[in-house]
Amino acid sequence: MSNPLRVTVWNEFRHEKIDPKIAAVYPHGIHEAIAAYLREQPGLAVRTATLDEPEHGLTEEVLADTDVLTWWGHMAHEKVDDAVVDRVQRRVLAGVGLVVLHSGHYSKIFKRLMGTTCNLKWREAGEKSRLWVVEPGHPIAAGLGQYVEIEHEEMYGERFDIPAPDTLVFVSWFPGGEVFRGGCCWNRGSGRIFYFQPGHETYPTYYQPVVRQIIGNAVRWAAPTAGPRVVYGRSAPLEPLAAG
Ligand code: ZN
Repeated sequence: MSNPLRVTVWNEFRHEKIDPKIAAVYPHGIHEAIAAYLREQPGLAVRTATLDEPEHGLTEEVLADTDVLTWWGHMAHEKVDDAVVDRVQRRVLAGVGLVVLHSGHYSKIFKRLMGTTCNLKWREAGEKSRLWVVEPGHPIAAGLGQYVEIEHEEMYGERFDIPAPDTLVFVSWFPGGEVFRGGCCWNRGSGRIFYFQPGHETYPTYYQPVVRQIIGNAVRWAAPTAGPRVVYGRSAPLEPLAAG
């Protein structure tokens, strides 16, 4: 194995500090639940970063040392400094992978990269969520069955105001009758982005083995690829041009 894939797990980490019910589910924060799984996976070097750290834990140095960033936020999207959003956007366009989780659909960085409102329907009623794998050959679906079930989740429903994904991997179904594009892939610049629906803060979703497996698959899929250096601007011809 060559160099490890460097993963930064970012979490807003506010609900867990102020709501005892949520702290009971994620005593060390959602980021630690996700990072704990990723740290056990071969070939990954995992760190965490949270909103209340200086520069939200996403300094130039940290981002320069990050291949894939995962993002969970909800109640404090507006507290994320625009300068940090600019910085993350630049890194994604340069090839860093971004895995956006659940309510991260409304984060500044996801809205910036999508260019749409990223709004959706929602309902918090502890419903079952069933995610159908609609692209079984996709690396993010590796090792899964036809569908994945989560016993209790927040309903997210269409319309989800996103640009049409480059690849749709999961379609989510809810008992209230709604469907949702619950696993979506995009390319932006040289970077890969995956959005994944599950992970409401009051449910133990990020301990469920199959959810962890999908996040692990997504992190590996989103890893930068060793493509050619991108060159822009005035360009000399590669062949002699005919006079005139
Ligand atoms: Zn939620």
